[in-house]
Amino acid sequence: MTHVIVGGGLAGASAVEELRGQGYDGDVVLVGAEPHLPYHRPPLSKEVLLGKDEPDSTGVHDAGWYAERGVDVRTGTTARRIDRVRQVVETDAGEVAYERLLLATGSEPRRLPVEDAVYLRTRDDSRALRAALLQQPRLLIVGAGWIGLEVAAAARLAGCEVTVVEPQAQPLLGVVGARVGAMFADLHRQHGVDLRLGTSYDEQEADLVLVAVGAEPRVDLARDAGLDVDNGVLVDAALRTSDPAILAAGDIATHDHPRLGRLRVEHWDNAIEQGKAAARAMLGDETPYERTPYFFTDQYDLGTEYVGHVPREHRDDVVVLGDLAARRAVLLWHDGAGRVLGGMHLNEWDATDDLRALVGQTVDPALLVDGPEADLAQLVRRTR
Ligand SMILES: Cc1cc2nc3c(=O)[nH]c(=O)nc-3n(C[C@H](O)[C@H](O)[C@H](O)COP(=O)(O)OP(=O)(O)OC[C@H]3O[C@@H](n4cnc5c(N)ncnc54)[C@H](O)[C@@H]3O)c2cc1C
Repeated sequence: MTHVIVGGGLAGASAVEELRGQGYDGDVVLVGAEPHLPYHRPPLSKEVLLGKDEPDSTGVHDAGWYAERGVDVRTGTTARRIDRVRQVVETDAGEVAYERLLLATGSEPRRLPVEDAVYLRTRDDSRALRAALLQQPRLLIVGAGWIGLEVAAAARLAGCEVTVVEPQAQPLLGVVGARVGAMFADLHRQHGVDLRLGTSYDEQEADLVLVAVGAEPRVDLARDAGLDVDNGVLVDAALRTSDPAILAAGDIATHDHPRLGRLRVEHWDNAIEQGKAAARAMLGDETPYERTPYFFTDQYDLGTEYVGHVPREHRDDVVVLGDLAARRAVLLWHDGAGRVLGGMHLNEWDATDDLRALVGQTVDPALLVDGPEADLAQLVRRTR
């Protein structure tokens, strides 16, 4: 029995860990296109850019870990084609036969036709961007999403002049809505970023342009193999694709979430937990994956964590417990009928467990009004 994982990122590494953790002692092959062993990406736009961590320090495991567990890791190897009839992955370094195959090929930055623009996805991108920031260029960032804003913060702290252009009316509008987006706009302006909203990147002067306008799932392998693809690779609740011998996890998986419906999540926690769940499914445990999405971001002195999934029509249905302007608060998104859909804290690290307890629960809608932060605990009690 050989279990093959294509994609040497966090989802792939987590799957390997779980296969061995569950006691599976058959052959495991991890095929990864990058020259590096799997690593964590979040520090690439934070600690690494700030010069606090070395790019090479973000590895999930070192080479010895994989060797001790008898995992055949093939870095610098790209999977080119899947032959589903013969159950073989064709790579640029030969064929690998599989019993079960996990696709964890992640996503890549969406491109714009901007000459000499740089992008941030890999360890090597981050290393190059850090070196560039040390030259203190006038930096133009196209896109006020998570990565654009995190790079803006790192670049300001490195002493760069930073302009961010964003076609929408607020940063992160599609995720957090207008009111919370405005808080992020204030945060960056207070730190000296020239944030230009409702505008595009034409006619802007800069020494360096970073394009950060979202990512696209890498679905070519799956599509060429005839698997169902819609935005990402379509998987059922247990992360199986339309071919039961093939699973998908992490950024590429458009998952049939039992509570939240069709969902593709591009977050660190999802890569870890779906990677593990897919490994268990490869071993026959097809328990539906039901974890609530979670992510975090750090910008200047603001640290936040977010739990939940808020449909677009409720992005502006938000309640603030605490002080939004001072960035000490807990934010709750709800459906207008008392159901809490998502929650985020701003520099309130003790709130995470309460947020996890609250998201998905229903409380008296009359309680979902702005107030002091102490009310969060009361809300949690009211759901029990
Ligand atoms: C700069 C940055 C900062 C981030 N910060 C945060 C954060 O603060 N919080 C958060 O929750 N999330 C964050 N994320 C998102 C998070 O890192 C991703 O969701 C996570 O990396 C997804 O893991 P993955 O394994 O699905 O895919 P990836 O990490 O993209 O890994 C996929 C791997 O597969 C390889 N591959 C692709 N095609 C092939 C092929 N045909 N053959 C072989 N190998 C292939 C790729 O080269 C890649 O190494 C950040 C992402 C970036 C880029």
